Formats: sequence, structure tokens, C-alpha cells
Amino acid sequence: MTVSHNLGFPRIGERRELKKATEAYWKGDLDYAGLEAAGAELRRANWAKQQAAGIDLIPSNDFSFYDQVLGLSCLIGNVPERFGWNGRDMNIDVAFDMARGTQGAIACEMTKWFDTNYHYIVPEFTKNTTFELVGSKIFDEFAEAKAQGIVTKPVMVGPATYLTLGKVTDGSNLDKFDLADSLIEVYVQIAEKLAADGAEWLQIDEPIFSLDLNDAQRAVIEKAYARLAQVDGIKIMVANYFGELADNMELFTSLPVEALHIDAVRGIKEAEVVAARLDDEKYLSVGIIDGRNIWKTDLERALATIETIKGEIGAGRLIVGPSCSLLHSPVTLRSETKLDDEFKNWLAFAEEKLDEIVFLANAADSKLDKTMLADNKQAMADRADSARIHDAAVKRRAAAVADKDRQRGSPYAERAKKQHAKMNLPAYPTTTIGSFPQTQEVRKARAAHKKGRMSDAEYDAFLEAKIAEAVKMQEDMGFDMLVHGEFERNDMVEYFGEQLAGYAFTKFGWVQSYGSRYVKPPIIFGDVSRPEPMTVKWSKYAQSLTDKPMKGMLTGPVTMVQWAFVRDDQPRSETVKQVALAIRDEVVDLEAAGLAAIQIDEAAFREGLPLRRADWDAYLKWAVESFRIASCGVADDTQIHTHMCYSEFNDIIEAIADMDADCISIETSRSQMELLDAFVAFQYPNEIGPGVYDIHSPRVPEKQEMIDLLKKATKVLPAERVWVNPDCGLKTRGWAEVEPALRHMVDAARELRDRAA
Ligand code: GLN
Ligand code: ZN
Repeated sequence: MTVSHNLGFPRIGERRELKKATEAYWKGDLDYAGLEAAGAELRRANWAKQQAAGIDLIPSNDFSFYDQVLGLSCLIGNVPERFGWNGRDMNIDVAFDMARGTQGAIACEMTKWFDTNYHYIVPEFTKNTTFELVGSKIFDEFAEAKAQGIVTKPVMVGPATYLTLGKVTDGSNLDKFDLADSLIEVYVQIAEKLAADGAEWLQIDEPIFSLDLNDAQRAVIEKAYARLAQVDGIKIMVANYFGELADNMELFTSLPVEALHIDAVRGIKEAEVVAARLDDEKYLSVGIIDGRNIWKTDLERALATIETIKGEIGAGRLIVGPSCSLLHSPVTLRSETKLDDEFKNWLAFAEEKLDEIVFLANAADSKLDKTMLADNKQAMADRADSARIHDAAVKRRAAAVADKDRQRGSPYAERAKKQHAKMNLPAYPTTTIGSFPQTQEVRKARAAHKKGRMSDAEYDAFLEAKIAEAVKMQEDMGFDMLVHGEFERNDMVEYFGEQLAGYAFTKFGWVQSYGSRYVKPPIIFGDVSRPEPMTVKWSKYAQSLTDKPMKGMLTGPVTMVQWAFVRDDQPRSETVKQVALAIRDEVVDLEAAGLAAIQIDEAAFREGLPLRRADWDAYLKWAVESFRIASCGVADDTQIHTHMCYSEFNDIIEAIADMDADCISIETSRSQMELLDAFVAFQYPNEIGPGVYDIHSPRVPEKQEMIDLLKKATKVLPAERVWVNPDCGLKTRGWAEVEPALRHMVDAARELRDRAA
């Protein structure tokens, strides 16, 4: 019998019930029992859904009120000392303190889970770190499901991945991998207790198999699974996802465990090789349904792969599942009442993916659901040649892109002269990253307009008034390059996506990003083009109010694609190229409308970097090219800016320079300019705005602090190429902090300028 399997189900609920419950609890509007009840209901509903769909191996402990890596830290008592935890009693408040910080203790760091947009709480290790089984969540949830008649397969992050993702925080010379032995013993206890509780399976996630591994990591893996193999009475499945095994294949297939899970979407090329190498005892879980995208699976093709693998290993050892946890998919298509039927018929969210898994497992056992297969074939065919997807003009244009389209007229040095002559900016020119506070008033007006309670004319007048206020304020403060404030934008991707052909939007397609913050990525389903100008009206209006240069403000092609669900019927690079051409049209129109400077934000440029080094060059090539396609349609004297929300550029600084933006702004204030190192070492040739104001904090920095930061920056960068700006956009802040902070910033620049004169 082929086993149908799931690695994890979205925990947020169909209507974001998890967010509502946790936020109410944090506010004090819901008590502990109420929070617990909300969690229990979400788990119950998820288990029931999976059972009803016919999934054999249903996960537990995939639920979390915040994050599963944080959950593991709590289970094994790895709580940083600053939280004053008593070392014995574990409960959800300890986790929330670590995630959100307390009066006396800053929150643990959070960072992206591999190359997803999900963020985990970074485990901290010090010389004093010990591990002890203090939590009970994994056992409690197993018992809870069992009481509901379901023997689940508990899931947890594996020891090698846990150590890899954590960091040493006490500045000691601790080698975190030396903690492996004591950590592994806790895993042994967990496995033993689960076995005693009646669990048949334990899934241990080790997605680091998708990374380039070093010897220390390999050693931990070998030790961990040799030791866990000694635990009787429970079968262990080690799961890799998010990529190919590549040169880790040998290590992976030789693990002494009962089952292995592979990502057969991203690793489709090696799936059969893994099957062929497997010894006779092992089960293979084939992750053939894409857990990270929203398209229906081509069931005929998937079935062919499954049949081949079955031929290798036999149906008795075959498990069929999603590539990774469905945490990264929206919950259910049933909620999408606004999407038309034709389009909906191309999609599968988490619930619909369960049906695909069960279909394949059944089909492998000669219980083929012919109706479902026929419907699926029809959907595939409809989508493949739908007129909604294919725009011959867009394809022709993308195919015709030539070197000249990726090249500015002159090199930076010559452009700079023309730009400076045209704009006549002073030394240390001041600007911001684009957005100003999205106040209640702004959000209310947008909502009213969306719901039809505010007419187009009224809303336009409202936005114009906001822009006029912002322009006046910037002039009063003495800014050198102004922005219009982005009041018209809900989100830097959605705003553009809504105006581009080839994009669609869901109503409830939320995916957890971190804690109670969820995102609703747009869907890029077809060839992308820009039917009409998207921002020109606002930028032009803003420019008409001032003699100072106004900066046009756009989102770049890589970010537009990185933060979306992307079509799977053509290479990502092709989709990015189409988006780049659409942005290019906007750039050219902004220039024609009289904007002397245009910023193209690439907040997600680094995030798009593939997990393995070997794949970096190919990515960087098309990512850089896309920026150049978007930006190179303008004359020499139009200044192109870009902005990136971070500053770890060490590995990719060459590519950043290759983008050839006239000016780049980055985040540097929190690291006290240390993060400029890459730019200094590389001798970054163009202009640069190292952020001097940390916009992530409500604190108002003093003028002197910013002067100090700027002095630090000009010690290592040529002063004539340094701009003065905050770390990022100001939309999440309030005017009460922003106004004084910006005044201090402009004054800081003035003072430096005066001293230099
Ligand atoms: N222009 C955007 C803003 O100021 C940039 C934000 C970002 O890159 N995250 O909000
Ligand atoms: Zn930013």
C-alpha cells in the first residue's frame, strides 16, 4: 500500500484565526485559556481536514503560536539568560518573550527560513548553553490528536539544522557544533517518549541537506542518526526540502533511518537516482506536490514519476507527499469567491494539494480516479494555451532585448557630471527612501475608496493634499531631493501588481511571514506588461509643487517577482525580464514627465540568492540584467537610484556594482556603519547613501549621532559620493518621531557641509 503523507499544514486558519487569537492575547483581550482553546480548535480542524482528505501520515507539532524553531528552543530549554526564565516551567509566554522582547530583554533575532519568506527565531548559543527536555508541546499535541482518534506523526526540526541556524551570541570562541552530543541526547529522549506514547513515526526535518555542507555539519548528521537509530519502537523519517541533495546524496541515502523524504519538485532530476540508491529496508517519501506554489500539479506527469519510482522500490515502501510543509501555501481555494472559475481551476492551495497527494497515492495502488485525472488534464490544457496567459507582443519584445537596452549611454563618471550640472545638488545631499508615515487617516481614506465610500475624485484630492503637505514639509526642512511620500500605496509590490497585466490577487491567500504577520503574495500567472503609467500622475504632481528635484519611486523586477507566487511554465528569469520591461516603460515615462531622479527599489535582491553557491552566478546574471533593463532607458542626466533594505553585500558586491545605479542607499545605522566594509573593500565606484537613521525603532536620533555616523562613513568613502538618508522607508513610523528625526538628519548634513566649506 502506498502511503499518503503530509509534512505540515498551514497553522494560521482559513480566516487568520491564529493572528486574531495571538494578538488579542498580547493585548490582554484574551486570556491564556482562550488562547489555548483557539490553538486547539485550529489543530482539530486541520487534523480533521487531512483525515477527511484521506492522508495516512498526518503531522502534529507542525502547529505553533509563533514559530517551530522557537518551539524547539522552548522544548529543549534553550532560553537566553536575559529572559530570566526559571529553568523549569515552560509555557507559551516564554516563547512570546523571546520572540517579541520584554521591558528588560531585547527580542531574539529573526531571519528568513532558507529561501522562503517565512522567518524563524534564531537560536542562541553561549558557553553556558545546555539542553534539557523541559517542554511537552510535542507530546501534548500527539496525545490531543490521539484522543481525537488520529495517531499522528510528530514533526520537529533536526539537530543538525538547529545548530546550523543558531548563532553564538556571547562572543566566545564556542564552536556551536560541539553542542551536538548533548543536543542529540535530548532528541533520543523525545523519540523514546514518543515511542512510549504510541507514536509510530517521527519526522525530523533537516533541510540543510539542500545547502553546501561542511565537515562539522556532516559529522553532526552522522552522529545524530547513528544514535537515534538505537531508539526502539519508533520509525524515523529524515526530511530534506527546498532543494536538491546534490553532493549530499551519499550522506543522505546512507542515513540509518526508516524513511527519507526528498523534494521531488526542486529535485526532480535526482528523484529517480535517490530511489535507485535506496537500500531495501527504507521507505521513500516523494515530495512531488509543490508546497511553495499555488499551481495545480500536472497529475499525469507526476504519476509517471511516481510509477517509475515505484518500479525501483516497490509500492510497499512508497510514500507520496508535498515537497515541503504546506505552511508556505495559502489555506484553501474555497474562500476565493472573487476569482473567476477559469482561473481558479488552475490553482491548488493547501487543502487542494491534499487531494492531489491522495490521488497520486491511490493511483500508485491502481485505484485511479479517472474523473480527477481527466479534469486535471483539461485544466492543464486550458491553462497552457489560455489567451489570458500569452501575449505575443510581450514575448517578442522580451526576445528582442539586446545589449544596448542594458547599457546606459555613458559610464557613471560622465553621467554624474551631467546629473550634477542639471540638479546642482550640494555636498552631502539629503533625501529619504520614499514612503512617509501611513497614518490612520491615510489608511482609512484608502479603505473608504476601495469600498466605494469615497469617490475617485475625492480620493485623488485627498492624496494630492497629502503630497502637497509632504513637499512643503521637506522644503521647510531643507531637503535637497524630495519624494512624494507614497501615500497612494498599500504595499510596494501589490500597488504595482494591481496595475500590471499578468498579475492576479486573492482575497484570503495569506501565508505566515513571521509571528502574527502574514503576507498575501500576488500571483503572476501570465505575460507581464504595463497597460498604462502607474505612478507618473503622482510624481508629476509632486514635481509641479517644487523647484527641487523630485525622485520617482518604483519597485524593481527582482522584488516584484520574489514576493509573488510565480508562474511555473517558464523560467523565472523570463518572468523577471518581462517585469523589467514593464518597469522600464514607467521609468521612461517618469523621465519624460520631468523627473530628474528615479529610484528602483530592490529590497529582495539578496533574498533571491539561491541556496547553493553553484547557482549564484546564473541568478546574479539575470537579476543584474533585469535591473539594467529596467533602468537603462533614460538619458545620462537622469539619475537612477536603488535601495536595498540590508547591507550584507560581501558576497555579491560585484553584482551590486554591476547594476550600475548612479546611487544606492542601504541600511547601515544599526551596525554603526560597519556594514559599509564590502563597499569600501571593493571600492564601490558610484554614489552611496549609507542609512544614518534606524527607522526600525521609534527612537529619535540626535543630530550629533548622525554626524558621527557620517564622519565614520566619509573616513572610508569619498565624501563627494556620499548621500544622507535614513535606513529605509518611513511608512511604519509616526510623524511625531519622523519629523524631529528628519530635521536632525538635514541639520547634520548641513553642519558637515559647512565645516567642509
Ligand atoms: N520606497 C520604499 C519605501 O520607502 C522602499 C521600501 C523597501 O525597500 N522596503 O517604503
Ligand atoms: Zn528598505
